[in-house]
Amino acid sequence: MAERLYMPCYLGQILKRFNFSFSKALGQNFLIDGNVVRSIVAGAGVEKEDLVIEIGPGVGTLTEELSRRAKKVISIEIDKRLIPILEYTMMAYDNVEIINADAMEVDFVELLNQNPGYSSVKLVANLPYNVGTAIVANILETNIKFDSMTVMLQKEVSDRMVAEPGNKQYGALSVLVGYKANASAVLRVPKTVFIPKPKIDSMVVRLDLKHGKVEPYEALMFKLVRAGFNQRRKTIMNSLTSGDVEISKDELREVLSKLSIPENARAENLSIDDFSSIAKELNG
Ligand code: SAM
Repeated sequence: MAERLYMPCYLGQILKRFNFSFSKALGQNFLIDGNVVRSIVAGAGVEKEDLVIEIGPGVGTLTEELSRRAKKVISIEIDKRLIPILEYTMMAYDNVEIINADAMEVDFVELLNQNPGYSSVKLVANLPYNVGTAIVANILETNIKFDSMTVMLQKEVSDRMVAEPGNKQYGALSVLVGYKANASAVLRVPKTVFIPKPKIDSMVVRLDLKHGKVEPYEALMFKLVRAGFNQRRKTIMNSLTSGDVEISKDELREVLSKLSIPENARAENLSIDDFSSIAKELNG
């Protein structure tokens, strides 16, 4: 049987050979379960003509499986100590490109422009805990043309992505994800399939991006959403007129009345449509 990077014994040899030590600050928890690796790639629906962008390849565990399924894989890794390791582990895979960069600073529009002509472009990643949410939010807010994003995150964050109004996990991330994508849970992943073992379980979610028209009131909508959930115990009359939202209580009162939304509602009671209608009205 061929050696694969998810095999703990082989992974251990690689880590030892390169004298690698895990960085907690970079959220380095590497997968050691072949079934989970294959399920992530299957859940992402990767096909042979696809371009896959991966964030945080680590030593290449998921990259290896992606490269066997897709036409091309571009993996973005921040930790420069992992680059020589990836060059070694990915030596036999000629459709993998490694970029040493912070995914928060990558110009994805430019990256996709440089790589035209694929039937589909999919982001697939076992994201680092510390910046995973910010990376997903940034890609959604900037309307990057990925067809889908299949990402592993802490279970609690994934739950927030798919939460509905009224649920205690419903928040700014739920609204952003629901507005920009159709989200579905792919797989719950126990903490035992990583080294080092994290404290909490993870969940893989798939976001199929909607790519609707970018509305002129979208930036205001996201400001309102953030303001509303930053002070989620306050009524929207108070929370939506605070923070960096520059609207007066009178303006908001008029819009809420027009939309028949009660002034004493809280952000957690508002649907995605409510937020977009309020922003649309306020934007004039
Ligand atoms: N894909 C590997 C796996 O599944 O075994 C490793 C996943 S590990 C949870 C997260 C990876 O993301 C690490 O390799 C870490 O160095 C990398 N990383 C952390 N912050 C990053 C960032 N801002 N941009 C790109 N990569 C990052």
